[in-house]
Amino acid sequence: MMEKKLQELCSKSIEACSYEELYAALMTIVKEKSREKILPAEGRKLYYISAEFLIGKLLSNNLINLGLYEEADQCLQAHGKSMAELEEAEPEPSLGNGGLGRLAACFLDSLATLNLPGDGIGLRYHCGLFHQYFRKNLQTEEPDFWLSADTWTEDTGKTYPVSLAGREYQARLYQIDVTGYEGRTNKLNLFDLDTVDEALIQDGISFDKADIEKNLTLFLYPDDSDDAGRLLRIYQQYFMVSAGAQMILEECEKRGSNFHDLADYAAIQINDTHPSMVIPELIRLLMEKEIPFEEAVDIVTKTCAYTNHTILAEALEKWPVSFLEQVVPQLMPIIRALDETARKRTEDASTVILDENGIVHMAHMDIHFTHSTNGVAALHTEILKNSELHSFYKLYPEKFNNKTNGITFRRWLLSCNPELTSYLEELIGPGFRKDAAQLEKLADYADQEEVLRRLIEIKKHNKEKLADWLTEKQGITVNPESMFAIQAKRLHEYKRQQLNLLYLIHQYYEIKRGHVPAAPITAVFGAKAAPAYTIAKDIIHAILTLSQAIAHDPEVSQWIQVVMIENYNVTAAEKMIPACDLSEQISLASKEASGTGNMKFMLNGAVTLGTLDGANVEIAERVGEENIYIFGQSSAQVIRRYGHQDYCSREWYESDPNLRRAVDFLTGEEMLKYGCEENLTRLKNELTGKDWFQTFPDFNAYLVRKNQALEDFAVNPLKWARRCLINISQAGFFSSDRTIEAYQKEIWHLGK
Ligand SMILES: *Cc1c(COP(=O)(O)O)cnc(C)c1O
Repeated sequence: MMEKKLQELCSKSIEACSYEELYAALMTIVKEKSREKILPAEGRKLYYISAEFLIGKLLSNNLINLGLYEEADQCLQAHGKSMAELEEAEPEPSLGNGGLGRLAACFLDSLATLNLPGDGIGLRYHCGLFHQYFRKNLQTEEPDFWLSADTWTEDTGKTYPVSLAGREYQARLYQIDVTGYEGRTNKLNLFDLDTVDEALIQDGISFDKADIEKNLTLFLYPDDSDDAGRLLRIYQQYFMVSAGAQMILEECEKRGSNFHDLADYAAIQINDTHPSMVIPELIRLLMEKEIPFEEAVDIVTKTCAYTNHTILAEALEKWPVSFLEQVVPQLMPIIRALDETARKRTEDASTVILDENGIVHMAHMDIHFTHSTNGVAALHTEILKNSELHSFYKLYPEKFNNKTNGITFRRWLLSCNPELTSYLEELIGPGFRKDAAQLEKLADYADQEEVLRRLIEIKKHNKEKLADWLTEKQGITVNPESMFAIQAKRLHEYKRQQLNLLYLIHQYYEIKRGHVPAAPITAVFGAKAAPAYTIAKDIIHAILTLSQAIAHDPEVSQWIQVVMIENYNVTAAEKMIPACDLSEQISLASKEASGTGNMKFMLNGAVTLGTLDGANVEIAERVGEENIYIFGQSSAQVIRRYGHQDYCSREWYESDPNLRRAVDFLTGEEMLKYGCEENLTRLKNELTGKDWFQTFPDFNAYLVRKNQALEDFAVNPLKWARRCLINISQAGFFSSDRTIEAYQKEIWHLGK
């Protein structure tokens, strides 16, 4: 059937088709099939609003979810074509940045798989997040033109008027089908503006930030280091939520809502603070329908819920009231009225929406005027309740709840690691595909040598595949016999790529002194730095420079290889994660709200080296301390240190000779041969003068634990494989199906 259809669509033999043609034809087949699974929503329907949806390539995943993958694969093979090469023809949608956007994508997959009515709402960025290139060991940014002629986004022909700074714009609705694994099809709704013009982009990713008509949906997270950039973010956010709110009200009205009962028809999840303006916008729209303010507030509170993703103060959005007055004057009377309402509920000045300096606190509006505020891992939620949002917790204890993040196993196991998936199926049957908890059955095999040997073999194959991919993409040769220690995540000082860097430098010196490690190590990084985040870019520079310095040193390069993957994205993650031995989750305790990379690595049989932060805590509880390498300060110690403001990085630098040696190396002659003095000096000064994320206090513990892991890996491979097995067997809890079921039961109550 597939064969005939493909030939028909291409109007020639499959052999004669290019991969682009086959991709377009398969996309058509998938779209037709997924359309058959669209069901009318009954009762309450979810709208998940998010500035990011990091969905990854869709073809293979959709084929798997629709049960068409095998057939397509065999059909291609029969005609001398390969699915792997076909996948290369698909551009990765550039609609997200990191974990928050990836979470939104996993949630959409789980909603559809669990047959729950739930759509996404976001923006159709033309160039999304930038494409990262390395030049002269520096990150450079180029636009990512991912929207090709054959795209999953379909124009619905519908538009909604949105007023920005007093001018009316039309938001055009595009949709992408989200088809569940043996489940229903939901929609990802993405708004765009027809007049946006890619020709506005100058060199790199710079463009006229004031030309809203042409720039509105060009990029995700435009540089907000100046006022024009900050204003543009407000324009984007309001455009998204105003069009989204109108769409929601229209759908609910069609389904019979009289708006007073909106909460019986809609549940709106606000993913971080970016969509917060949906609250005053919905109130405004309801008031236009003659609903009084107090009732509108009540309706919106019952309809909306908020997810907090971070405790980093700089990420909790705050806007000057003058900015909002300029862009969304129509919301200001409502925001002021909400502020007054909130002030009537408490005297506590720390919970105001509009403060005395004329700053609007978006998260505060979310907590006051939604019925639920959730954190994303147990530790994170506790920190919110006990410190960061304590005044709100005292006011509304019933609103606070935890929903530990999860990942979809369809993409992060079935699709990215087919060899492991079929071996698991051989051992424990196919039930784990839909019911992740069944992975626990694997624990019965923990002491069977034959099983452990197969796991080692599968890991080896995945490492070889990653090695081939690296050769092809970046011309790098790596040794698959070495330990692959991978740190793949956005570049941020709190995630502490710089700690990993200092370890590698330390090992460099040890090797020079004749202290060779227990096994060779391939340290793999994947990370994009925000374009205006100078120190993050300096860290990338230092990693790339160190990589070169080591590669040129024959003594050290036998033992250490440093690889930085260009343009880390979902596609890269899908190659890296199955190949990982040691998963680096080394954020400063208390700073990583949850992490989801940690879960993907665990599921694919990597052992975690991590701090007791975010969901690492829950991973450690499940696998037990012999199957994870934990190190470093506790979150309580860190919070205390911030409280006392008594951390002085220079003291650590001066009192620990190993640490000093590693830090000084940054500006030593080996590095300056390949790197730029300005960047390296700035990084060194940042560490010795500030080190805001406390890398120095954790440095020794990190190197001890990491070398222990290296030794365990080298000395007893079977015991190592047993750790991998236990990790896989305990990963079921981290399925986003479990997360979504908890949201459903405790927050959304979707359906009738
Ligand atoms: C999972 C994922 C992330 C999140 O990683 P963390 O380690 O949780 O920060 C970021 N980017 C991509 C491409 C991912 O797949």
